Amino acid sequence: MGLFTPALHRQRHQFVIDFVKRKKPKKVLDLGCCECVLLKQLKFHREIELLVGLDIDGVQVKKKMHGLAPISTDYLQPSYDQLRIELYQGSVTEKDARLRGFDLVTSIELIEHLTLADVELFSEVVFGYLTPEAVIVSTPNSDFNPFLPGLVGFRHSDHKFEWTRAEFKSWAMKVCLQYGYEVELTGVGQAPPGQQERVGFCSQIGVFHRLGGKERYNMFDEDAEDVFSYTLLYSIIYPSLHDNNILRRVLMCEVVYWAEKLKRRWIAEETGERDDTYDLCQAEGEGGECFRASERHVDTEETQTACGAEMKTLVDQEEGDGELFWTPSQPDSDKWRRRVSVPLAVLWCCCPKVSLLSGSVSNLRLLLMDEPRVKLSQDGSAVLLNHQEQDLDDDDEEEHRADFEDSGYAEARQCPPSAEPAEDWEANV
Ligand code: SAH
Repeated sequence: MGLFTPALHRQRHQFVIDFVKRKKPKKVLDLGCCECVLLKQLKFHREIELLVGLDIDGVQVKKKMHGLAPISTDYLQPSYDQLRIELYQGSVTEKDARLRGFDLVTSIELIEHLTLADVELFSEVVFGYLTPEAVIVSTPNSDFNPFLPGLVGFRHSDHKFEWTRAEFKSWAMKVCLQYGYEVELTGVGQAPPGQQERVGFCSQIGVFHRLGGKERYNMFDEDAEDVFSYTLLYSIIYPSLHDNNILRRVLMCEVVYWAEKLKRRWIAEETGERDDTYDLCQAEGEGGECFRASERHVDTEETQTACGAEMKTLVDQEEGDGELFWTPSQPDSDKWRRRVSVPLAVLWCCCPKVSLLSGSVSNLRLLLMDEPRVKLSQDGSAVLLNHQEQDLDDDDEEEHRADFEDSGYAEARQCPPSAEPAEDWEANV
């Protein structure tokens, strides 16, 4: 077992997550993102709209970056939240205009991998050029090193330095003075009982906040030239209901689902068969309204059409309930197909998600009008369903498959959980 529970690298990432939960930044940039372990956790915090990672080592980034892709539920149940993820290869010592104006920049166990000259450039780029509202910097606290069993020299072979608390504080104060920030010094990884005061945390953390709000950023904006020195490695936009195509697709699924439910209910009432979806719907607590509506007494009428075929209509006493009737299966055909008409008004008032997504019955009509998988009545006031629609014909199946592939769902891959990087000494303990 390691020295810390949870492991130190987890505690550092948890520190960032807790900050994100409290401050709800919209744009977050992780410097030295390596295999994107922190980014993968941050993507679940959907107040974040833009999540970006930067690392000098493109090979590390590419290893597991596909684990940042949306998963099936992101496609099947998209929310209104928007999220774009981008990964860049580049050095924190160089400027790139695309990373300016973020709410939060994190630099977790990165600066100790830089030479002191590059730390100067890092300060200038991050605090002087990117000018985010908040910056979280973590780095080893060398005061703590005597407590790390078996440690000789630095904690990692690539570290160029490990600062004492006094050294970290002096760098942080200088940055604040030079670039207009204030800092709170803290950390993660508690010292043994009674030693905390003397040695501090195992990982020291500076939380910086920019002074003077937004104006400062604008001031820098004026004289900044647009440099693009990083290479884009990966970019993905998460499905969101703000995207009209996705909204239509989700709405269409809801409409088909609820229309089918209502159809089965009405048919069951007409034929006297028990409808097993009825109990299910009630248990879900959804659509209570519509079932009450369709529980009203219905009369059946039998009439003869001009061409002699039977048309059986389920007529409700009040306007706006469903209807069962016969139509020719093809124009000019003498085969007849039984159809059910489900009024949009009924769908809208009894299916909460349908009303939420569409806003109004007339909007619902507009959204469904050029939707090939939903057939509307001629006046556009109802959805028409075939009585027997369980079996898709070949064409329909083709269409379904195309939709599925279109949605990007088929491409969604979930990568196995990543092995998180441990520091040299952590791996050895
Ligand atoms: N932040 C990660 C990884 C820390 S290891 C975590 O919390 O686990 C340090 C990372 O910084 C490495 O992935 C390394 O490639 C990257 N790095 C080193 N020098 C860099 C530079 N100049 N610019 C950007 N990234 C750098």
